[in-house]
Amino acid sequence: MADCDLCEAALLTPRHYEDDLCWIADCEICLVPMVVWKMHDPVPPAEVKALLHQHLARVADPILGEGGWKLDDHMRNIPDHYHAHARPPMFWMR
Ligand SMILES: [Zn+2]
Ligand SMILES: [Zn+2]
Repeated sequence: MADCDLCEAALLTPRHYEDDLCWIADCEICLVPMVVWKMHDPVPPAEVKALLHQHLARVADPILGEGGWKLDDHMRNIPDHYHAHARPPMFWMR
């Protein structure tokens, strides 16, 4: 687990939400809500993934507006630890 930014961030980052499965915080790079699975593993089972997405929606809706964001779980920077961002549609224009 050494050198995994997400495992490290789990100790430092202020959270919107946390439970046994995951935590949700603002991504330090993108400044949008991001859900991080507590397992250091890139591929959660389907039912875990669905739960992570539900939790993210609960946090992201009041911040970005219902329907005002899209789930993005393409893991560009940290491909070996599952996480997903809630991105507003205009994100790439900023
Ligand atoms: Zn990790
Ligand atoms: Zn990010």
